Amino acid sequence: MKVAVYPGTFDPITNGHLDIIRRAVSIFDRVVVGVAADNYKKTLFSLEERVELVRSVTRDIPGVTVKSFSGLLVDFARREEAVAIVRGLRAVSDFEYEFQMSIMNKKLASDLETVFLMTATEYSFLSSSIIRQAASLGGCIHGLVPPEVERVLLKRYGFL
Ligand code: ADP
Repeated sequence: MKVAVYPGTFDPITNGHLDIIRRAVSIFDRVVVGVAADNYKKTLFSLEERVELVRSVTRDIPGVTVKSFSGLLVDFARREEAVAIVRGLRAVSDFEYEFQMSIMNKKLASDLETVFLMTATEYSFLSSSIIRQAASLGGCIHGLVPPEVERVLLKRYGFL
């Protein structure tokens, strides 16, 4: 039974994230999506809201569970008995940060591999922050986030 954790802020979850989750469960037996409680980003959605949205849009994908975590990612991965950390890679700009993180995580837990999945071309420009920006100004985000996320964003920004 090979378990992977897919950590992130998911503020909110996008179709780019979902694509990575779907592809990760086709490689691993189980994927635990880890919604980070404490990081350095000020989030639009609370931890509970972010977890609830991820749960709701992954409900139909077998082999996926969603949990929040705080503290070190490698400790969360160990608790979940994961053999790998999954991360998505978009543009060159992701590379440096991801490279640093994976080296640090390897130092902290040498038995844990970081596996990078390349973004799907249609989502290569997609990030939670660009979605928040567009939605806050009333821009159309249809097809870029699950319908439920679209609804919640429109509501949050007062367009519904
Ligand atoms: P973090 O704050 O940890 O970067 P994010 O929620 O922004 O959390 O992203 C979680 C992971 O998903 C990261 O590995 C990120 O590179 C990846 N990711 C985000 N958007 C996309 C996308 N459109 N395509 C592929 N991977 C993505």
